[in-house]
Amino acid sequence: MQLSDSTSIRRLLESGGFTFKKSLGQNFLIDPTVCPAMAEAACDEQTGVIEIGPGAGVLTAELAKRAKRVVSIELDERLRPVLKKTLSGFDNIHLIFADVMKTDLKKVIAEEFADCKKITVCANLPYYITSPIIMMLLEERLPIESITVMVQKEAAERLCAEVGSRAAGAVTVAVRYYAKGEILFSVPSGSFMPPPKVDSAVIKLNICDTPPVSVKDEKRFFSLVKAAFAQRRKTLCNTVSNTLKVEKSVLQNALSEMGLEATVRGEALTIEQLAELSDRLW
Ligand code: SAM
Repeated sequence: MQLSDSTSIRRLLESGGFTFKKSLGQNFLIDPTVCPAMAEAACDEQTGVIEIGPGAGVLTAELAKRAKRVVSIELDERLRPVLKKTLSGFDNIHLIFADVMKTDLKKVIAEEFADCKKITVCANLPYYITSPIIMMLLEERLPIESITVMVQKEAAERLCAEVGSRAAGAVTVAVRYYAKGEILFSVPSGSFMPPPKVDSAVIKLNICDTPPVSVKDEKRFFSLVKAAFAQRRKTLCNTVSNTLKVEKSVLQNALSEMGLEATVRGEALTIEQLAELSDRLW
């Protein structure tokens, strides 16, 4: 079956009575140039790839053409007969019908990719759950080299922003702690069926061997980061003292010792400064 032809995919979905579920973030790619470019960026013949949400299998097929093996995890059982048809020509794809958030990916990697030189993740992510999936992939400290994913353009800009810039948020710092991100290319909403309301972008997060900062207590560091960005209009002192119940004077002293104004906002701090502040507070 010609997977780069959107008419055949549309016909196949329609013939099985498939209807798109917005609640599952089902916007399928119909632009024939996007999936090959994503797959090129994500893998080579030595790679084991985890794909999240194969949909009709368009990206899955491009990954399978280039990778050693692809494990593809799909929540929607209704796509089983569709994927059986679209991926019938490949013998290096294992489909798992499950919620990726409830899947033991360490086990999947150990069982499926023992003979692969590297492991990556590639997906056109369901938008309702983009950040939780990315954070789960990073926090699990899976033995993966990179994550190449399609996300909404605004999310791409935030995830890949420079920490200390206005575009940064708590998720930017969290991502930067584990990886270095780059935006590879933009994808207009017309490249999807049905088209989402906003444009998208493909980003690549290259996982770092060690975090760019070392902190005494990771949990406390991340709770400080979350608090620092919780109320963007407030000063860091106000939002952190309210959220984490730290005395304002303690915060002001710590900031002053670091050469920072008491009125500084969370978004102005670099990851090194956030790490130092966390270590000074606890
Ligand atoms: N890869 C296909 C493409 O590019 O055309 C489909 C991408 S669509 C944006 C997201 C896919 O993720 C859908 O197939 C949806 O059913 C699936 N999905 C949604 N939530 C999921 C979850 N928690 N675990 C696994 N798959 C999920």
